[in-house]
Amino acid sequence: MTALYDKLNPILLLEKRQNCADRAVAGGLQGFLDYWRDEVASLPPEAAERANAEVVLSLLRGYRHMSPAERCVAVDQVLARLADEPPAGSTGPSRSEGRAAAAPRARTRRPTAPRATLASPLTVIKGVGARNQEYLERLGLRTVEDLLYYLPRRYDDFSRLKTVSRLVLGEEATVVGTVRKVYSGRARGGLPVVAVSLADDTGPIEARWFGQPFLARQFRPGDQVVFSGRVDQYRGRLFLNGPEWEPLQPELLHTGRLVPVYPLTRGLGARRLRTLVREAIDRFVPQVVDRLPEGTRRDLDLMGLQEALQQIHFPDSLESLAIARRRLCFDEFLLLQLGVLGQRRQWSLQAGIPLEPSRAGIDAFAAGLPFRLTAAQQRAVGDILADLGRHTPMRRLLQGDVGSGKTVVAVAALLATVRNGYQAAVMAPTGILAEQHYQTITSMLAACPDVHCVLLTGAVPAAEKERIRAAAATGEPQVLIGTHALIQESVSLPRLAVMVVDEQHRFGVTQRTALAERGEALPHILAMSATPIPRSLAMTIYGDLDVSVLDELPAGRQPVITAVRDDGDRERIYAFMTAEVAAGRQCFVVCPRIDESDEAVGKSAVAEHRRLSKSVFRRQRLGLLHGRMSGEEKEQAMAAFKQGAVDILVSTTVIEVGIDIPNASVMLIESAGRFGLAQLHQLRGRVGRGESKSYCILLADEDSDAASERLRIMEQTADGFALAEEDLRMRGPGDFFGVRQHGLPSLKVAQLGDTTVLEQARREAARLVADDPELARPEHAALCRDVRRFWASDEVVS
Ligand code: ADP
Ligand code: MG
Repeated sequence: MTALYDKLNPILLLEKRQNCADRAVAGGLQGFLDYWRDEVASLPPEAAERANAEVVLSLLRGYRHMSPAERCVAVDQVLARLADEPPAGSTGPSRSEGRAAAAPRARTRRPTAPRATLASPLTVIKGVGARNQEYLERLGLRTVEDLLYYLPRRYDDFSRLKTVSRLVLGEEATVVGTVRKVYSGRARGGLPVVAVSLADDTGPIEARWFGQPFLARQFRPGDQVVFSGRVDQYRGRLFLNGPEWEPLQPELLHTGRLVPVYPLTRGLGARRLRTLVREAIDRFVPQVVDRLPEGTRRDLDLMGLQEALQQIHFPDSLESLAIARRRLCFDEFLLLQLGVLGQRRQWSLQAGIPLEPSRAGIDAFAAGLPFRLTAAQQRAVGDILADLGRHTPMRRLLQGDVGSGKTVVAVAALLATVRNGYQAAVMAPTGILAEQHYQTITSMLAACPDVHCVLLTGAVPAAEKERIRAAAATGEPQVLIGTHALIQESVSLPRLAVMVVDEQHRFGVTQRTALAERGEALPHILAMSATPIPRSLAMTIYGDLDVSVLDELPAGRQPVITAVRDDGDRERIYAFMTAEVAAGRQCFVVCPRIDESDEAVGKSAVAEHRRLSKSVFRRQRLGLLHGRMSGEEKEQAMAAFKQGAVDILVSTTVIEVGIDIPNASVMLIESAGRFGLAQLHQLRGRVGRGESKSYCILLADEDSDAASERLRIMEQTADGFALAEEDLRMRGPGDFFGVRQHGLPSLKVAQLGDTTVLEQARREAARLVADDPELARPEHAALCRDVRRFWASDEVVS
């Protein structure tokens, strides 16, 4: 700590002791600061100390006009910064005043330690020791910056302070009062209960917590506290049910405001985490560099990044929260879009393998099929053949609803490849899907004996695998079908010209690229996805791909009969399912969560599987499938169902997108209101794929209007794209679907439903790139760095 701070520190400590009444300096702190600023100005401009001092000055700017609570925040922030200053060459702090504040920190910190930055491990934050570090790590948080971007899941609005006499049943409210009595005991079920009786001038109220016996030690009669929580009643008397609480103090973190609610992990409580975030913000947000060029920020009227980070965690109001969110959301879309444009540019500069698309050969193939291609399929085939003939590699997304017939379109591309003497690869996310493709593709190509297809999955015996690899390595023209992992990791395809990637959203963009870079020249890529995405979104997230859409279903498809039912219909539904199984068909039961430990609400697959196998479906063969099973267990469960060894599969939403089980005729979805329309539509697509009439039964377990309105729409429309648009409209920014599943970096703030911001970011990205394609200009340096970092964090989820 330097002489400069030696003067300021005792004043601030005194000010704090006087509850920031601005009395520590006669005439107010401002007078002292004016003098102090002159001292700062006399330092050489490059002195590190000077930069710091300027931050201090900015924190205290307008001190006179702040409320005492705001002043306390500012003073705390400055004191925290001062505590971080290395001592002024002396052997330790010399002022008795400062020691009290700085001592605990000084003990844990070596005086020579380099200045902590955003990239520092979280242990630089006060309160993070080895144990908390481990918990934070479990949440995926390693650096200070990670914590700054660990955003609240939601906010509890505890900003409305009430007197006890005005509490209303059912509302969330905040009361301030004095603790009268503390009881602890047990409720009827044996659960420990702590009750605290609190009173303000208007009367007493009780707060109760269940299952947290340790709370009893936190309160003593006479304490001034703030409680925020839900007003409930028991035997006609109001009480606060498990409120958040904290001692009354000028800056309220946990109560009396919009309180951030973070996803937690066992061992790290809400209060602890909030305190750590506050600490991180106070100390480190001043180091955050705003990546947006000044012009962009001004033209689009965006909040500064530092302020946005503060407000997103501890918003002053709902309005400032919305403005902060808009800013962070804009940044994410911009980084996303700049990356996508960059990739597209890279790609367009590469040489590809032009193929001669023999139109006649393709027409003969189409004529040999047992059905006529739809107009949409013909268009898509045309797009693809034109791409294959070019000298730049194709990157096309074939998007089409479940059952729209994407496979046959891909087969046309495979045919063209092999007839040109090249190799093609078809990759599926799982062995089962790969096998399914192999069967479909070989049967479609039955009339083309010159096209050789090979299946490579984990189930193929080792010797056979070796043989397949050896043949592939000679460059022999063929179609290799397998799981992406196998093909990617172990096969060399020297004459690879076309890659078909099914259920494309399972593949990271980087993976798409890595695969494409295996051969000498870049192969053409055709990605297929059944996830319906409104056009505007597709243009953003697939901005690096051209898109062909299959917007019509083959003629003669029977629609799946969809019905919304509730608990009262359960017996009838089960009887119906029993009859279907007796007739040799199979059923799905889908639940919103795996087991009771999940945070989601609604039935759990594990419990439902147990219950059904013991009761209604004792005589049927039941299977279980969920995301916490190993890859192998999942494949086994799926395979058993596909082979007909299981009658009823109880599952979460992990049931494979694209899996084709023509014999399945009933899809029962529990707590259907919990799912998005797009998701319900995907699930429904698992049935209705065979000869028999199929049914999708949506069980509503809540009578929320929005949920049941949504479900009614499912009854009325079978069009996935219409449903996706509807989903966006109704759910708004929220839970449409994760971008993750489209193989893009995850978005923390932005939702694909934020279409206005998305559109702005898209335009701005295009403008920036038109001007400076490589983002090489100095004013784009921070942006360029962040685009790279944003995309580097992309991992593949499977
Ligand atoms: P998806 O787009 O969901 O991958 P598939 O390619 O698996 O759809 O096709 C679903 C079913 O429809 C397959 O059995 C396929 O043979 C059949 N099919 C594809 N195109 C047509 C068509 N034009 N007319 C009739 N049936 C078709
Ligand atoms: Mg498919």
